[in-house]
Amino acid sequence: MNNFFDKLHEECGIVGIYSKTYQHLGPLIYDALISLQHRGQESAGIAVYHEGVMMHYKNMGLVRDVFNEENLRPFNGNVGIGHCRYSTIGSAERRNAQPLVVEFKAGTMALAHNGNLINAVQIRGELIDEGFSFTSTSDSEIIIKLIAIHYKGNPLEAIKKALAQVEGGYALVLIVEGKLYGIRDPYGLRPLVLGQTKKGDYILASETVALDLLEATFIRDVDKGEIIEIDDSGYHSHYFDTTKPMNLCGFEFVYFSRPDSDLAGKNVYQVRVELGKILARGDKEKYDLVAAVPESGVPAAIGYAIESDTVYSSVFIKNKYIGRTFTDPTQEGRERMLRLKLSILKSNIQGKRIVIVDDSIVRGTTLRSIIFELKKAGAKEVHVRISSPPVGFSCFFGIDTPSKKSLIAANMSVEEIEEYIGADSLRFLTSDEFVEGVGLPEDSLCKACFSGEYPMKVPKTHNKYVFEKY
Ligand code: SF4
Repeated sequence: MNNFFDKLHEECGIVGIYSKTYQHLGPLIYDALISLQHRGQESAGIAVYHEGVMMHYKNMGLVRDVFNEENLRPFNGNVGIGHCRYSTIGSAERRNAQPLVVEFKAGTMALAHNGNLINAVQIRGELIDEGFSFTSTSDSEIIIKLIAIHYKGNPLEAIKKALAQVEGGYALVLIVEGKLYGIRDPYGLRPLVLGQTKKGDYILASETVALDLLEATFIRDVDKGEIIEIDDSGYHSHYFDTTKPMNLCGFEFVYFSRPDSDLAGKNVYQVRVELGKILARGDKEKYDLVAAVPESGVPAAIGYAIESDTVYSSVFIKNKYIGRTFTDPTQEGRERMLRLKLSILKSNIQGKRIVIVDDSIVRGTTLRSIIFELKKAGAKEVHVRISSPPVGFSCFFGIDTPSKKSLIAANMSVEEIEEYIGADSLRFLTSDEFVEGVGLPEDSLCKACFSGEYPMKVPKTHNKYVFEKY
């Protein structure tokens, strides 16, 4: 995804594999990362361990650009982890790519992290004051440093002590002393699943799509506040914090997760279809056709069409070969860029009253251009339906939200947004409708970017705006 489509940015994708046997793990981790690429496209990396030796490589770019047959060849071993990154704290540069690999008392340790620590600035400052140095500006380095500091011969105890100091949303995969660990924060904000292949290898991954790809059977979600420890004797569960309520990120269902993933027992595609059906139930009027803003609005638009018995039609053709584009700050330039990326099937919309379904509105700028182009192409009316509540608050737990002043719903009422984007009508899901569509207990979901009710006390300023100073 990219800025142009005005979405909240994904966070990171992580994967870990533990096998009892020495094997060529590189291609397996590579494939799993490809299936998680939608979660982060800035950098990619792999670390594989065997008998005291950690092989690792990371670089900027898509997984397919970072790795090739030749540089994957040495990745042999029995335990490995992989990461694809979108930067939320720490800039997009190679030193912040992951896995992070460090030498410490017990040898070499590797970590891949999805999420954000809300007390990263404070801990990093304290460690720097104590004389520690950092090689990156990513908050993930704090976790690996704390584990190394607390290590006194027992990795599990060191991990627990390190996690007791950090706060935020995170899912981690970690290799210490040849064991693989999978960890989820005490609120379960970021997802992590466990599976097993027919050969008996264990897989940890951000989403079930990676398990499907490796033909691994889903065992279960890693629980909130849980550490899964994997070695030759199997997997073992340990808890480091059971005091917090579950708060799985609701936005995973709206946009971040792939539709073919299952999250907390719910299939993401089916949830999105259901959200679209609920949107349709709120409409008394009948329209000529319903279409989606591709790709993330598609399941909800299908749900809307089924429920309202309205024709679902393609209205946009997305150019798959666009590659790199150059920013043109003028209105004219932005409109040309939109036409380059999305062209409109004029014959489908001329003289029609159409409903456009999208998953969310962040800044509103893209939707505004889309509606302008639809009307210019001959649409009689354009009604916009959004399959989530308005995003009026920043995320502090691993999603790259713009600052509040750039979030349209933080600064305008629904009526004002409707006018700004030029829609003939605009409707979002209410929070209750959203929860109904997801089908999980309301108190098990984080909806803070809709409500401002964060599961924990968050800093006044997002770490990403101050972190680089330290
Ligand atoms: S604030 Fe929003 S994006 Fe962030 S974890 Fe909560 S639901 Fe997800």
